Amino acid sequence: MIETDILVVGGGPAGATVARYLARSDIDAMLIQRSFGFKKPCGGGIRLDAFETFDIDRSLIKKMVTSIALVHRSKRIEVDIADTPIAIVDRLEFDAALRAGAEEEGATLREATLVNVEQSGDHVISTIREDAKHYRIKSNYLVAADGVNSKIRKIINGDRVSSHLTHYADISSVSYDDCEFHFGRAIAGRRYAWAFPHSGGANIGTLAGEGRAEME
Ligand SMILES: Cc1cc2nc3c(=O)[nH]c(=O)nc-3n(C[C@H](O)[C@H](O)[C@H](O)COP(=O)(O)OP(=O)(O)OC[C@H]3O[C@@H](n4cnc5c(N)ncnc54)[C@H](O)[C@@H]3O)c2cc1C
Repeated sequence: MIETDILVVGGGPAGATVARYLARSDIDAMLIQRSFGFKKPCGGGIRLDAFETFDIDRSLIKKMVTSIALVHRSKRIEVDIADTPIAIVDRLEFDAALRAGAEEEGATLREATLVNVEQSGDHVISTIREDAKHYRIKSNYLVAADGVNSKIRKIINGDRVSSHLTHYADISSVSYDDCEFHFGRAIAGRRYAWAFPHSGGANIGTLAGEGRAEME
């Protein structure tokens, strides 16, 4: 049985940051991430001040945005955010850099998937799958940072998470200077669609549709 003080599940921004700060405080932490090649569907827009707050390398910034636009049909509202600009990052690179930061501080990083969790006295026994093999990990604490469709939440609470599909694409033939949020049933259902600047183009997508049929 593998042992660690704190097992952090999910190597996105939340989990990687938790693991980094734990390791920085000399707390024994293991971070597991299902796939190092996973790119979270995301506009990649982060408040610039977060880079200072969380001590993140600014070289990860691809573009700075100082205004956002709220668009509904022909109506367009421009909002100046020059005082609190948004930095655009590439989530694949950003998440990998945060995980690398956790590892540099001393956290153990594994490319593995959590498949089960059970409480055993004062401990948590987690089962992970790594390279088609299963391992059990005994920890004093478990941090559930496995995202919006959290497996841990399902195991502990028995939650059924409703699916929210996104359609998005990185496009190189157009570019934007501001982050646009588009509203209206035709384009975004009851949610929103977005067009964000990105390195070498734009990231556009929509959150329309709760079920696969509606989205299609
Ligand atoms: C379409 C869209 C656009 C968005 N745009 C923005 C934006 O521009 N700016 C912004 O701030 N936020 C944006 N968000 C929200 C943002 O993506 C999330 O708030 C953020 O990713 C949450 O970080 P997290 O670390 O909690 O979870 P996640 O980023 O989801 O990370 C969880 C990680 O856990 C891993 N994982 C899951 N299950 C397991 C398991 N069983 N075992 C091991 N690993 C597991 C996943 O692979 C994933 O890497 C957007 C979201 C969507 C859907």
